[in-house]
Amino acid sequence: MIELKTEAEIAKMRAAGRLVASILDELRPMVRAGVNLLDIEHRTRELIAAGGGVSCYWDYAPSFGNGPFRNVICLSLNDAVLHGLPHDAVVRDGDLLSLDLAVSLDGWVGDSAISVIAGTPRAEDQRLIRATEEALAAGIAAARPGARLGDVSAAIAEVAGAYGYTPNDEFGGHGVGRTMHEDGLAVPNIGRRGRGYPLRPGLTFAVEPWFAAGTSRIVYDPDGWTIRSADGSRTAHSEHTIAITPDGAQVLTAL
Ligand code: MG
Ligand code: MG
Repeated sequence: MIELKTEAEIAKMRAAGRLVASILDELRPMVRAGVNLLDIEHRTRELIAAGGGVSCYWDYAPSFGNGPFRNVICLSLNDAVLHGLPHDAVVRDGDLLSLDLAVSLDGWVGDSAISVIAGTPRAEDQRLIRATEEALAAGIAAARPGARLGDVSAAIAEVAGAYGYTPNDEFGGHGVGRTMHEDGLAVPNIGRRGRGYPLRPGLTFAVEPWFAAGTSRIVYDPDGWTIRSADGSRTAHSEHTIAITPDGAQVLTAL
């Protein structure tokens, strides 16, 4: 069931989204050579608590994954791209880390992800991150009242294709509201223009392009959570939660 949100509800989602954005903004400079992923996890716990929020990941137990998630942020390093389980690992110079965070505030959720390079960047990694950020912007620009979800998906895939990357269609965006994953709305990173659910004011969902440099295929770690590129190539991920308004899409997870 797809629920349209009122302006007051969207304002609450914006507050949750702003908290998520401010936390990611604080975490970004932590991504340096020598930091342990668990340090980032623990700092995130402090920041969520300080902001009065509740983690959407803690105890999250979808059909995949081995048991409930016992962390508050997804940290996906290098060839890992989604649902990376924070663990005892030290970031090295040149590593590429994706940080994906969903927090509930006063009963409403914001969900956003950024990809960051620690220290000395490799040009190909900068290009990969740029592609996901441009695809995110293109997807958001296509999310207008009267358009369809397929327009958003196609805009993302077109940017990927222009860079020579092939999106995976197993994991993409989703409805967001009172919960991190609302039923009924899926926003794949591949699609056809003019197809899919019609967009109208009050719809709220996450747009989240992620690409691997060399493949669209994925593999799972034995932990059942961490998803990696099947060929070991590096990956990047960018995400915002947006609301459809009469004037177009509004990013809710912005500072
Ligand atoms: Mg997310
Ligand atoms: Mg998401």
